[in-house]
Amino acid sequence: MTKKFAVIGNPIAHSLSPEIHLAFAAEFGLEITYERILATPDGFHDTAKDFFTSNGVGLNVTAPFKQDAYKFVDERDPQSDASGAVNTIHAVDDRHLGYNTDGIGLVADLSRLGWTLPGAKVLVIGAGGAAQGIVLPLLDQGVELSVVNRTRTRAEALRGQFPNIKVFGFEELSDGWDVVINATAAGWQQQQLPIPGTVFNDARCYDLGYQRDGRTPFIQQVDTQAAETSDGLGMLVEQAAEAFHIWHDVKPQTKPVLEGLRNPKRQFIAGAVCPRCKRQDTLYIESDLQGDATLRACHACGYSEDIEGNVSINLR
Ligand code: NDP
Repeated sequence: MTKKFAVIGNPIAHSLSPEIHLAFAAEFGLEITYERILATPDGFHDTAKDFFTSNGVGLNVTAPFKQDAYKFVDERDPQSDASGAVNTIHAVDDRHLGYNTDGIGLVADLSRLGWTLPGAKVLVIGAGGAAQGIVLPLLDQGVELSVVNRTRTRAEALRGQFPNIKVFGFEELSDGWDVVINATAAGWQQQQLPIPGTVFNDARCYDLGYQRDGRTPFIQQVDTQAAETSDGLGMLVEQAAEAFHIWHDVKPQTKPVLEGLRNPKRQFIAGAVCPRCKRQDTLYIESDLQGDATLRACHACGYSEDIEGNVSINLR
């Protein structure tokens, strides 16, 4: 029987979770549906309830509803309890079980990158929901953890919960970090952080924010000083793999899915003329892991246009 899954958030249109979970399911020949659900800002509870009463099995939860999801569930795993946030819900025997897989996803991705954590001096920038979710898994790896946040009181509140962490204001930061992790939402507003470049000197810099080409505003900000950089697309795939494991009891391969997201398939449209630069034979269609066209773009001038709906194209 086809099982029903979804991701809920606001906004949600650009979530890559359906693409990732359908690719995982294909590896095991599992029949699932996985949709995006847009809830109104105060509509999480009712929308999630509707999903589960209409035979939904599993729900991923993204911003701004992770704290609402924490309240919604009947039971919570230790990662959820430590962060006050749930990103994965599993309906089992009429009970809703809540998990937070974000921190596990981050640690798995840092391990994929070969960044050593035990004993490392780690700076987390941000103290919102995502930062709360990664503090405990990072401390469990034996790091020396500091947190800096625009609103200092929020970082202080985090120290109230984890007394071993140090807290700084932006203006107090010095250099000497092994790993710096950006857990702010500044990139959503295309903003860079008010932190001097020297803070990133020789540090490995990770951005929880992500985009297919990896060039997030934070990565662009730290590129010249950092020893190494990565955006959070790998974390997104790893936290999804952990959710998939919870729901289906099998662990999917993450590497091919991450590679597929980084390098979407392109098919040039013979003879087509770009509506912007008017060149011929430069237009291509980009498709996702399922082979559905998502974008029409021009190789020469950078013009691109979203394609609505599931237009299927033959890639072979
Ligand atoms: P929240 O809204 O809970 O927190 C936002 C944080 O960003 C706060 O610390 C806030 O500071 C800070 N912030 C926002 N704007 C700015 C700015 N202009 N300058 C400095 N600080 C700013 O969001 P989340 O914690 O849920 O998400 C944070 C990021 O993590 C997002 O980009 C999200 O996409 C990403 N993420 C990625 C995941 C992945 O799998 N890769 C998983 C989860 C999240 P203040 O307290 O002062 O408002």
